[in-house]
Amino acid sequence: MDYHIYHMFPKLLNLYGDHGNIITLEYYASQLGLNPILHEIDDVNNIDWDNVDFMLIGGGSDREQALVTEQLGLIKDKIKEEMEKGLPILAVCGGYQFLGNYYQATNGEKLAGLGILDFYTVGQTQKRMIGNALVQTQDFGELIGFVNHAGETFHDLSPLGEATSGYGNNLTSSIEGIYYKNMIGTYLHGPLLPKNPQLTLFFIKTFMKRKGLPYDDSLIDLSFENKAREMMKQRILDNSVNKDDFY
Ligand code: GLN
Repeated sequence: MDYHIYHMFPKLLNLYGDHGNIITLEYYASQLGLNPILHEIDDVNNIDWDNVDFMLIGGGSDREQALVTEQLGLIKDKIKEEMEKGLPILAVCGGYQFLGNYYQATNGEKLAGLGILDFYTVGQTQKRMIGNALVQTQDFGELIGFVNHAGETFHDLSPLGEATSGYGNNLTSSIEGIYYKNMIGTYLHGPLLPKNPQLTLFFIKTFMKRKGLPYDDSLIDLSFENKAREMMKQRILDNSVNKDDFY
């Protein structure tokens, strides 16, 4: 069965190796007998909405975010519609900020968000939130990641989890991300999926469920991934992120 992976604006929204998420998804999808097909979208007219199985909106600098704002705005209703229907979406950092009503960049410029969820982000110049993070979630256990953002996100929606090491959505709260239907918005950057196979498998499992296909990941060997996770977690705990170290 074909598995259509959509990577939105990969040349602009691809900070800190967000593309690693795609490679991982392709790898696990193949292991589970799927045929992953990657669509790298630079023009929103090239989306075949009947065949979108996963969407990644990655992170970008303020400048790059400004460059894609208009194009993304053209498909905001469609993204919302698909999200409500349960499309698995991973929106990282700048991509996550886009889902809200607006992102006020650090230079004060207000970039329109897609407004598909009711929240907002304000960039501040006092301190960048940078560093590794451990996030405890109810649905996916412990997530390991890396954050680097100036924007502070504020919302009352259902969060992805809580950062027990490193930064969450803003400087005053350890709440991290948003989890809505099958959409995950998070500040955890770059190779999030390789570090957290449980998330990768969640996206694929959700796809299979939506297609009415049987899902069985019992043959997937995660021992290497789990070893890497343990090592990374230990490193984070040993260097316990001191928020005051980062500017
Ligand atoms: N420009 C945004 C910020 O700094 C997003 C950066 C990113 O995607 N890492 O908050």
